[in-house]
Amino acid sequence: MIGLISATAAGSAAARRVASAWPGRTRVYDGPVGDAVRRAFAECEQLVCFLATGAVVRLVAPLLVDKASDPGIVCVDEGGRFAVSLVGGHGGGANALAREVGDLLGAEPVVTTATDSVGMAGLDMLGLPAEGDVAGVSRALLDGGPVTLHAESVWPLPPLPGVVPASGSSASPSGSAYSIRVTDRAVEPAAREVVLRPPSLVVGVGASRGAPVDEVLGLVRGALREAGLSARSVAELATVDAKAGEPGILGAAERLGVPVVTYTAGELAGVDVPNPSDAPLAAVGTPSVAEAAALVRGGELLVPKRKSDASPAMATCAVVRRPARGRLAVVGLGPGARDLLTPRAKDELRRAAVLVGLDQYVDQIRDLLRPGTRVLESGLGAEEERARTAVAEARRGQAVALIGSGDAGVYAMASPALAEASDDIDVVGVPGVTAALAAGAILGAPLGHDHVSISLSDLHTPWEVIERRVRAAAGADLVVTFYNPRSRGRDWQLPKALALLGEHREPATPVGVVRNASRADESSRVTTLAALDPATVDMMTVVTVGNTATREIAGRMVTPRGYRWQEEPR
Ligand code: SAH
Repeated sequence: MIGLISATAAGSAAARRVASAWPGRTRVYDGPVGDAVRRAFAECEQLVCFLATGAVVRLVAPLLVDKASDPGIVCVDEGGRFAVSLVGGHGGGANALAREVGDLLGAEPVVTTATDSVGMAGLDMLGLPAEGDVAGVSRALLDGGPVTLHAESVWPLPPLPGVVPASGSSASPSGSAYSIRVTDRAVEPAAREVVLRPPSLVVGVGASRGAPVDEVLGLVRGALREAGLSARSVAELATVDAKAGEPGILGAAERLGVPVVTYTAGELAGVDVPNPSDAPLAAVGTPSVAEAAALVRGGELLVPKRKSDASPAMATCAVVRRPARGRLAVVGLGPGARDLLTPRAKDELRRAAVLVGLDQYVDQIRDLLRPGTRVLESGLGAEEERARTAVAEARRGQAVALIGSGDAGVYAMASPALAEASDDIDVVGVPGVTAALAAGAILGAPLGHDHVSISLSDLHTPWEVIERRVRAAAGADLVVTFYNPRSRGRDWQLPKALALLGEHREPATPVGVVRNASRADESSRVTTLAALDPATVDMMTVVTVGNTATREIAGRMVTPRGYRWQEEPR
């Protein structure tokens, strides 16, 4: 819950705006300000105070305990110009809240947390549990390092400038050096060390009906402890479908803070395990539950099946270290303008340790990258090599972003990359605004009814195939957007394609030509099939040809939606 506190009329008005924008997320605290702040501090995870920072500092100072548990506090000034992250920037989420409140009220977010203001990933923001000297190591990173990285588990991390991989032994550092250790082993952080916990362990569990939560949990914790593994690295409990609702397993998972993943008995029966037995085969139809569920996605068996101490034993478990999974984000950058780059795309760019892309696209977003990002750029024509590089880096366990203009899945890198990729990496796609959509918005509403995109590049597609598709689009009366319409070496394809459309459409059919949509030198015009001069079209252009119903209205290209209400009154 976000507590809202205000004192003045302007402050209350702003608080009401936040409350009505986020109903259910916010609670307004009325009455004397001191009292309101104290109540909100006790009851809420976050506070937005429409008060001077000085007043809030004085009020909350005696209440502060620990940055891990204190609420995040944002102050908004009387004029609504600034949203200041005051306390709990990371742990309390105040930095993110300041940005959200800023977006809502049109206020500038003010964030002073060092790692955020220099665009570096805060160690406690990596999405991995962090233990040890987070403040000290973060400061060392800010000072430019060096910080030694002991990566016992490979895990896709964002760029951490100043971090140098440990050479040779992974023994704890001595002396004054700062270090980061990525491990699922139950080690205590050394002095000046941060231990990051990757979600690398899968615990397979089996349980008889009615097995108590404490028995399951005790068994799992005991197995981890004896194997020297950290419970904070457990990613999930895995079991057989038939046990999906077993309260002992669900309860143990809840207490560990992890999800329960289930597999069919058939899937588990197919897994090769060291300790099969007859009991589960009779009960649920697979000779192994715990080991098979832990191993079904591969990995290394660290703790073979063991039973709980109770008698009769009602639970079994096995622990597997799953293979590291790199992360490949395929990110569409949009047509060019920065504000047509989605916030999700921006997040993915900042999360990547390795960026792969065409040099001109890299230039488009270079300023957004975190310091330390490894950039692998190449020129036109190196598509296959780029796709292979991106996948290879992800398979090494890296966090990789593969970029493309518009949408990266449209005449771009997603398909060659995914054709190379195996199922041992995670892949996320971030959609982008395509050139066809950007051009459509500039031209008016040309895509208001069924439409296709056709690339006129016959570099990789035989012209016969392209021509067949253009003819089909012509016959089906589809609006057509031509990509890659014309280059210096390819000048006859566009006139030919337009002529094919002309066999089914009037010479006066509207045609929109958009060059460099959303870029600094954007230009566009609406002309007709008969009047279009192909010489005015180049590779920075898309050409959208209307269907038989498309009209030019007030200079804009409009393809009727065909709703009956536009034609006949009801
Ligand atoms: N993935 C991109 C398309 C890449 S193919 C997308 O989703 O839009 C390259 C072709 O896209 C260019 O030859 C041109 O026809 C078109 N194109 C890309 N960006 C453009 C822009 N900003 N304005 C006009 N056309 C563009």
